[in-house]
Amino acid sequence: MKKYKVVNIVFDLGNTLVFFDHSYFSNGIAEREKRLNTAAFRKYIIKNKLDTKLISGRMNHRDFFRKLKKKFDLKIGYTDFMYFYSDVFWENPNMKRLLEKISRIRKYKLFLLSNTDSPHMTFIDKNFPYVRILKNRVLSYKVHMYKPQKKIFKYLLEKYRLEPDTTVLIDDMKDNIKAAASLGMHAIYYESHRKFMSEFSKVLKIK
Ligand SMILES: [Mg+2]
Repeated sequence: MKKYKVVNIVFDLGNTLVFFDHSYFSNGIAEREKRLNTAAFRKYIIKNKLDTKLISGRMNHRDFFRKLKKKFDLKIGYTDFMYFYSDVFWENPNMKRLLEKISRIRKYKLFLLSNTDSPHMTFIDKNFPYVRILKNRVLSYKVHMYKPQKKIFKYLLEKYRLEPDTTVLIDDMKDNIKAAASLGMHAIYYESHRKFMSEFSKVLKIK
């Protein structure tokens, strides 16, 4: 294994620091709208790239709501709709512990690089305070770019003046790992915590 000195750690958010499942959104709506076809609901969002539009900040949530309300004849109000939209996350206790530990060491600069939008980020900061440890952030909806686009990685490196070869990305998406690696960053695939830790501890000598 090539030796390198990592000083910057970049965390992905969804399914890395916190787990999520978007089906809680459609299932939540379906609790109110008895005839909602949740599969069709999810398919419509993906087919029309509404999710991508939201994370790249090219669509606001009022328009998102209006579109779905009209298409699926929803009776639910905007506030409840947005609550179901946001309440799709739960804690990753292993990553919580690790992040708190690393931040106490004060040896590394820590970053968040996430494909997300404002309601999700607000919900996470409120409900998962350990994520607030990460103050240095590049968020897709603010910069109008998203992973695995290379430009968002370049933006992160330039914004914080990071050397790619002293920077490691932790992410659960293979395409993001590939994009980071193509720019000379180190990248560790987050699938199971145990597998991740065996690689991560080699890099940082953290147990
Ligand atoms: Mg992720």
